[in-house]
Amino acid sequence: MFKLISTEDYARAGILKTAHCKIETPFFMPVATKTAVKYLDPKDLEKIGIQAIISNAFVLSLRPGINVIKKADGIHKFMNFHNAIFTDSGGFQKIKDSFYVKSSDKGLHLRSPFDGKKYLLTPKEIMKIHNTLSSDAAMVLDEMPLHKQSRKQVELAVKRTHKWAQECIKYHKNKKQLLFGIAQGGLYPDLREKSAKFISSLQFDGFAFGGLAIGEPEKQTYKMINAQVKHFPKDKPRYLMGIGSPAQLINAIGAGADCFDSTFPTQNARHNTLFTSQGKLVIKNAKYKSDLKPVDKNCNCYICKNYTRAHIRHLMKMQEPNGLKYCTYHNIYFINNLMKQIRTAIKENSFNQFKKEFLKKI
Ligand SMILES: [Zn+2]
Repeated sequence: MFKLISTEDYARAGILKTAHCKIETPFFMPVATKTAVKYLDPKDLEKIGIQAIISNAFVLSLRPGINVIKKADGIHKFMNFHNAIFTDSGGFQKIKDSFYVKSSDKGLHLRSPFDGKKYLLTPKEIMKIHNTLSSDAAMVLDEMPLHKQSRKQVELAVKRTHKWAQECIKYHKNKKQLLFGIAQGGLYPDLREKSAKFISSLQFDGFAFGGLAIGEPEKQTYKMINAQVKHFPKDKPRYLMGIGSPAQLINAIGAGADCFDSTFPTQNARHNTLFTSQGKLVIKNAKYKSDLKPVDKNCNCYICKNYTRAHIRHLMKMQEPNGLKYCTYHNIYFINNLMKQIRTAIKENSFNQFKKEFLKKI
């Protein structure tokens, strides 16, 4: 299911086989919570070479409802995307006041942001939703501690995360679907270590660092990754949830993570910030008004081959939807291409050199 091809220090290149795709790792997943990456068609994603996206099982169970997707014969056919689809559980929704009510030993008490209706999301319930969606990989239900919570509360969250992880395994019936465990622990290295050890003792297909990149200083993020990474099995993929800037991705791969998702590239695109091989470019700036160069001369994406900075700036200033589409397309292509370059570098044993040079330029 997961094959390591090459390693350089902690950085790894491999292949993750899922029901729909052989994913080359490390890889990045654009976020399609409601079965769409904002402003991009699934065809665009496939043309860019996106190997996997992530959607949200709980949100889909609210709208359009699980029976609609079941009738369509699963999430792939429902949205017409042919590569891998991961589905998150709803644990991350704890960070959002529009969703979160409270937690209990049974599960997460959530509210629908669409009509205010309350739900108790249990491990059994979320596994039923994941299994029916028929995604390639399902994430367990976890209790994500927030950084404002006390050590005692974080300990309780870790305890619940471990209990729910075991229950998710018990109720996981769709054997074509991979199941990923999530380790928590807040910002306490000893709890992080304890959680990584426990989750690693269970029969999961992949392992995730949960509850990071939610506002803590970046130094802390890597401290927590380092506390957990050595306890995750070497022969399974490691998923760092919520990371998506070029610099963060390259650093996290250097720390041993293989798999990522984040709204960072798409959100930045919608707010005029484009990634380039020379660093950030804010397309709305006046200096690009009559600049007929592409966004990034080193980028081979459809947008950089066909449109100018001046044109994209004009569209963004005029709030034309195509401007949002072009910016999103370029940022997603840029990140996907960065992952490709990183995979090549790891295989050629030149990742550390690539990392040093890349970080110097941006
Ligand atoms: Zn481009």
